[in-house]
Amino acid sequence: MSTATPQKFEFQAEIKQLLDIVIHSLYTEKEIFVRELVSNASDALEKLRHTQITEKDIADDQLTLEINVTTDDKAKTITIQDTGVGMTRAELIENLGTIAHSGSKQFLKALGEGGAKNSNLIGQFGVGFYSAFMVAKSVKAYSHSWRKDEPGHVWTSDGSGSYEIEEVDGQQRGSKIVIELKDDCADYATDWKIKEILERYSAFVSFPINLNGKHVNTVQALWLRSKNEIKDEEYTEFYKFQTHAFDEPRLRLHFSADAPLAINALLFVPKENTEKMGFARTEASVALYCRKVLIDAKPKDLLPEWLRFLKGVVDSEDLPLNISRETMQDRALIEKLNKVITKRFLKFLEEEAKNHADAYAEFYQEFGIFLKEGAAMDFAHKDQLVKLLRFESSLTEKGKTTSLADYVSRLGADQKEIYYLVGPNRAAIESGPYLEGFKARNLEVLFCYEAVDEYVMSNVREFDGKKLTAADHADVKLTDLPKPEGALSEDDTKALTAWLKTTLGERVAEVKASDRLVDSPALALNADKFMSPHMRRMMKAMNKDSAESPLRVNLEINPRSAVMKRLFETHTTAPEKAKLVAEQILDNALISAGLLDDATPMVARLYKLLESV
Ligand code: ADP
Ligand code: MG
Repeated sequence: MSTATPQKFEFQAEIKQLLDIVIHSLYTEKEIFVRELVSNASDALEKLRHTQITEKDIADDQLTLEINVTTDDKAKTITIQDTGVGMTRAELIENLGTIAHSGSKQFLKALGEGGAKNSNLIGQFGVGFYSAFMVAKSVKAYSHSWRKDEPGHVWTSDGSGSYEIEEVDGQQRGSKIVIELKDDCADYATDWKIKEILERYSAFVSFPINLNGKHVNTVQALWLRSKNEIKDEEYTEFYKFQTHAFDEPRLRLHFSADAPLAINALLFVPKENTEKMGFARTEASVALYCRKVLIDAKPKDLLPEWLRFLKGVVDSEDLPLNISRETMQDRALIEKLNKVITKRFLKFLEEEAKNHADAYAEFYQEFGIFLKEGAAMDFAHKDQLVKLLRFESSLTEKGKTTSLADYVSRLGADQKEIYYLVGPNRAAIESGPYLEGFKARNLEVLFCYEAVDEYVMSNVREFDGKKLTAADHADVKLTDLPKPEGALSEDDTKALTAWLKTTLGERVAEVKASDRLVDSPALALNADKFMSPHMRRMMKAMNKDSAESPLRVNLEINPRSAVMKRLFETHTTAPEKAKLVAEQILDNALISAGLLDDATPMVARLYKLLESV
């Protein structure tokens, strides 16, 4: 029933409601209307491509499949035209006059659920075709279906409650949306503005997009191409385009999955960790695409926090054709994506560590801190992450690291614990008194140099059934070593420790002979089992007051050391001098433990001791 004169229709009630919100909303990112119309054009072209496979008789079959955007700043119009499937008269009524499609339905549902005040919903849900009314005085949709015998039509509305449809001649296949812009939206009729918007949202649309005759989307959606067809330079170029980076990526993972979700992902680890360089906390920036159209450049929960250093693209391509942006708001879907990608990336790192150990070591040097964060905080991925941690140890060379698994593989049958020491660097740990007892017993000790290590180790707690234990912890029990010649007797040692306890008074909780010392005369252990020396240093750095609380340590002495033997002799013959020596020994032990808060009294005492030499 074609008519030559315009015929007027009322919008369906829901559409009226929707339009009312869209038109009066204060939503600031009105520019998304470009994304919506371009993705409609792209959908229509995709549908045509499918139709061409099964149908022979297609209108204007010679037309190139493309999208043409033109702006006219004098007339204040923007036009988005495609050579896709087009719409018949009935389809215009069905698609643009009723709320058949999912996007707008979801939008209204969310509004009904108390979101009315939140104009953000427009951006989140993408109200599709109707978003044009945020910027339009009027919208004309010219369309000609791919079906040859159908005439062309123009659909016209100012969004205020009704629309008109009129038959027009001379329409080529596809649709042409002409928007007459509101005065305060005239910017959208300028070339530069639309260019910028197209580059942001539609850079990877598969069909050529021409803006005022110039091809704008020249970068390919690399993530959808087959890996072995892509050159390294192409990846690098893409990385630079996508992340606005100047460096080259350090690692990349390009993968696709079919189940439980169809995913194409291209992930990059940058060369450098900017957080480590002192820049602000990195923002998650793996962008989420749905069939090459940007959904969200910085989706928050797509990946766990500790993966915030990753860059790249995730595209969930195999979703039903009519899926819209709103589905991406679906928590369950995001969670599923998160799970699949995280698992895959962890597997990738495991392979890297195995197959390219040197590159992995360099990566770890730069980004290991994120893996530690994950191991300590992300319970779901802890087990996989712990395997990826690396440490220097008493058995590695300086600069070389070991994994916990390798550590365990070297363990003696009766060793139930994995020992570690936290210190500022290798030299400090090696020259301190804590290591020697472990060395003498051939026990490997992991060296931890970062402030967070203490926290990470205590959160990770165990690996492969072995407890992670700080080697300077007061509770550590070590096996007996054969008694060397010339040590103080047990009675003498008892007398000396008792004298030390009395002499040092409040400053020590306990004094005893040590099973960890081999060469050093003494060591200090924090009497507070819940706070290691390193933790105390951190607390002190954060908050002065907590360090003011009186420090009481356990002093362990070495009955084999010449200093102790001499002290045993002098503590009866020259008690005054022996007291100074005892205090100095305690201070030395505190220095090694990083627990000496104020060195001033020590200096005075040392001069006194030097006088008597
Ligand atoms: P969605 O794209 O989520 O379906 P829209 O509001 O963007 O919702 O579009 C509504 C419907 O209008 C589309 O599903 C499609 O059938 C039709 N349509 C919109 N733009 C075009 C176009 N350029 N060519 C053909 N059909 C279109
Ligand atoms: Mg759409």
